Amino acid sequence: MVYDVAIIGAGIIGAMTARELSRYRLKVCLLERTNDVAAGASRANSGIVHGGYDPEPGTLKAEMNILGVEKLFRAAEELHVPCIRNGSMICAFGAAEEPAVHALYERGLVNGVKDLRILTGDEARELEPELSGEVSLVLHVPTAGIVCPYKLTIAAAGNAIDNGIDFYRNFAVCGAEKTDEAFCLRAESGETVEARYVVNCAGAYSDRVAALFGDGDFSIIPRAGEYLLLDKAEGGRVAHTIFQVPSAAGKGILVSPTVDGNLLTGPTAAAVESPENTEITPEGVETVKALSARSVPGVQFARVITSFSGVRASEKGGDFIIRTSERVPGLVHAAAIDSPGLTSCVAIAERVTELLSGAGLVLEPKAHWDGTRPDTEAFRHMNDEEKDAFIRENPDYGRIVCRCEGISEGEIRDAVRRAPGARDVDSVKRRTRAGMGRCQGGFCMPHVMRIIAEELGIPEEQVTKKGPGSHILTGRL
Ligand SMILES: Cc1cc2nc3c(=O)[nH]c(=O)nc-3n(C[C@H](O)[C@H](O)[C@H](O)COP(=O)(O)OP(=O)(O)OC[C@H]3O[C@@H](n4cnc5c(N)ncnc54)[C@H](O)[C@@H]3O)c2cc1C
Repeated sequence: MVYDVAIIGAGIIGAMTARELSRYRLKVCLLERTNDVAAGASRANSGIVHGGYDPEPGTLKAEMNILGVEKLFRAAEELHVPCIRNGSMICAFGAAEEPAVHALYERGLVNGVKDLRILTGDEARELEPELSGEVSLVLHVPTAGIVCPYKLTIAAAGNAIDNGIDFYRNFAVCGAEKTDEAFCLRAESGETVEARYVVNCAGAYSDRVAALFGDGDFSIIPRAGEYLLLDKAEGGRVAHTIFQVPSAAGKGILVSPTVDGNLLTGPTAAAVESPENTEITPEGVETVKALSARSVPGVQFARVITSFSGVRASEKGGDFIIRTSERVPGLVHAAAIDSPGLTSCVAIAERVTELLSGAGLVLEPKAHWDGTRPDTEAFRHMNDEEKDAFIRENPDYGRIVCRCEGISEGEIRDAVRRAPGARDVDSVKRRTRAGMGRCQGGFCMPHVMRIIAEELGIPEEQVTKKGPGSHILTGRL
């Protein structure tokens, strides 16, 4: 079969593009090099829906950010992904930093951000009592929000699959040849897929993927950002996302609640050799602690439950690359999508679709397209009576597997069954939060492995942490 469109990379940009294209009578496939969606930057970022005050006016970043905010809130609602408009605050500490707040306010107005306000330190502390006494001026952005980036990616890909898109995991595209009719994309496994149009959504690898097509005129500079995630006991420390005025290194260290009720601090910004470099460094940890304590001194770092790092796909031009290739007809790039790429994802997916149409792809809407997805967290939000009735019908929901987060066996089985199905322990964790609590999987991991093995009909020894090469058990004693 020859696909109409192949999308390379199942991060938020590839997944949202797949969802957008699934509206039309097209044969589309989504190709991902790892065992699951959201394996790159879309797994590990701040999860902020940025208001749009930061990007330089006239750039694609500014345009996509502004268009993207409301589109993202709408998509999250359709997909039943929690997305909260908590607002953000950008803080200046003393007279030297205050001009930056005014400059961001002006830039925000030019970009078209609504409801921006400048607050004195005291006015800001009335809204956010834990804010440092050193904060002297604040840009308040009420339209900003928070979302879980990997849940959004999973939901977008799942919705695309439910609407007929094919998903190929462990398909690392390593070769691309053009025949008369189509591109032939070759995976490292030797598998091939043919498609008339290709969209490059390969994140930090998007320059390498472009080069496979002989289109190598941009290069990605990977920049890592390290985070500390704190227990839910710290989750209420602040209500807004608290930033400091940005520097050359980016938007700086933030302190923010997450949609799941934890507290997030970070990220750092350091150039790394490889997009695979997601290590946590002692210097990174110290920087995150020191700079987040500058904004919110009361944060209790004894309550850190985990640390993680994500790699930005930055490009020296500083802007997103969203365009049809000049050299290779039929190839569209959605590359170098660093921040605010999550915020912009729906706008970018729509722009890519327009570019494909401009390149000759015929877009004929399907008679029946369903942009909604069932609420995977519905059980968690039921009251005791509703849970009781539900468990009588579905006894698997009565067996709690993850004690920290209160996740049942039924939810874990659903995560394996519902598209895009979880195939390893980390994929279950991202879909259900089993293993994301205080004990970080210490108690529940063996049970999760057993359930995955039962669902997939494989021996437990074959269940991995995150796909090929990450086995957990060596054999039976
Ligand atoms: C530290 C950090 C903080 C951020 N904070 C925010 C924020 O608060 N708000 C915001 O709006 N944005 C934020 N961003 C930006 C946002 O995370 C990205 O813009 C977004 O995740 C990019 O998605 P993507 O799909 O382009 O890339 P990715 O998520 O990296 O996905 C690319 C995918 O392509 C796959 N791939 C690569 N090569 C191949 C190949 N050869 N064959 C098949 N598949 C391949 C990868 O495995 C990966 O799954 C942040 C980013 C980072 C790193």
